[in-house]
Amino acid sequence: MNFRFNRKDAAATALCVFTCTAFAQTAPVLDSEQRRFHDIYKELVNINTSDSVGNNTTAVIAMKKYLIADGFTEAEVQIFEPFPRKGNLVVRLKGDGTQRPILLLAHVDVVEAKREDWKTDPFVLQEDDDFFTARGAVDDKSMAAAFVSIVGQLKREGFQSRRDLILALTADEEMSAVPSNGAWWLLRTHPELITADFGINEGGSSQLRHGKPTIQRVQIAEKMNTSYKLEITDVGGHSSLPTGGNPIYPLAAALGRIGEYRFPVKLAEVTKVYFEKSASFETDQLKEDMLAVASGDPDSAALDRLSSVPLYNAMLRTTCVATRLNAGHANNALPQSASATVNCRILPQDDPDAVDATLRQLLGNDRIQMTNLIQPMPSPPSPLRPDLMNAVNALTEKMWPGVTVVPFMSTGGTDSRYMRNAGMHMYGVSGIFYEPSDARMHGLNERVPQKSLYDGREFLYQLIKQLAVSGKE
Ligand SMILES: [Zn+2]
Repeated sequence: MNFRFNRKDAAATALCVFTCTAFAQTAPVLDSEQRRFHDIYKELVNINTSDSVGNNTTAVIAMKKYLIADGFTEAEVQIFEPFPRKGNLVVRLKGDGTQRPILLLAHVDVVEAKREDWKTDPFVLQEDDDFFTARGAVDDKSMAAAFVSIVGQLKREGFQSRRDLILALTADEEMSAVPSNGAWWLLRTHPELITADFGINEGGSSQLRHGKPTIQRVQIAEKMNTSYKLEITDVGGHSSLPTGGNPIYPLAAALGRIGEYRFPVKLAEVTKVYFEKSASFETDQLKEDMLAVASGDPDSAALDRLSSVPLYNAMLRTTCVATRLNAGHANNALPQSASATVNCRILPQDDPDAVDATLRQLLGNDRIQMTNLIQPMPSPPSPLRPDLMNAVNALTEKMWPGVTVVPFMSTGGTDSRYMRNAGMHMYGVSGIFYEPSDARMHGLNERVPQKSLYDGREFLYQLIKQLAVSGKE
């Protein structure tokens, strides 16, 4: 491990003689690879890649410039722009071909961010208070920039790999509830460019507790996402003459039943292991409840207590929740229509058709039309490959002694589902630690501890190097 992060180091003080600024007092002293990584990260973050006004193509062209400077040819760094402003980049660092490739996948588009809502401009990287702050500071420009700098460094170093390393920087991941671009598009139109033995993507999360690294989560599965529109119509009329046809009441009653309903608990292997490993960080009743889940035979009281925590509830069962509601057109008119959106997150081992049937039963009223808005995509969990898990375990122990590696099913979605659906194994792991209470992805003032980002980049560099030479003799 060669992480160096010395604050107020002598070198910084020497620089300060000529350019003494507040930054010099707080800036870490970086080695040359870390400086290069910082430049890549800063340039990427400062390019707005939101759907409304951003430009993904500008961002991937900027990344291409670094890859070319590191020795890739113009032709090797391919850019695909299936939609204006929505470019994707693919580049391959050739190995000797004795083992199949590894895919390094990261999206460079970001969620919208409004200047007036943020403390600072979300599209200008802020470097202070020990944090990097900007939209995309974590999700997912941290991993995108790390991969660009790592693949570039390996190219410059003439690294001898047994596997091709494929880097794909993609667009529209944040729009991928209805996929049209990005990883999904590459897989459909250019599968030969990104098909690999396995891939590394976002979706893992590494947790600090009170500033101390505790858990390194490796995402090996995720829930399926689907949404339904519920709609009911009526002839309407004057509000002074109420009728039995008012659509608001049956819709509200149906939503009430959906809100009350709890899907049955289903314990996948990954869930049991997750609770078993997490129990070691807890005490008292919570610890006992977690161990009960780990045993595979928890009683209903333990499940009730765990289900009061949103994350545990979402890991234990499929969930469906009302997310939008719309009805009526005037304060003094009977409504002509009432509609709602219900979003479901389905466990990988649950059958989407059975969830559909349960919801229809809960509606309990033939007048309510239920339409499926997104086809849920089945995405089988990836196996705990020994080469990957051993490398993650050993590196984690070396860099953060005492930290527990935990396989994890994420409740939200990532582009890994397309790869898993196509039979490729995907792993979400980053080594970028932050406090769960400070997880601001998609939210305001998104930020990452500077030290965590540099450590994560080092972790990924070491991990990729190890995996690139792994495999059967
Ligand atoms: Zn993301």
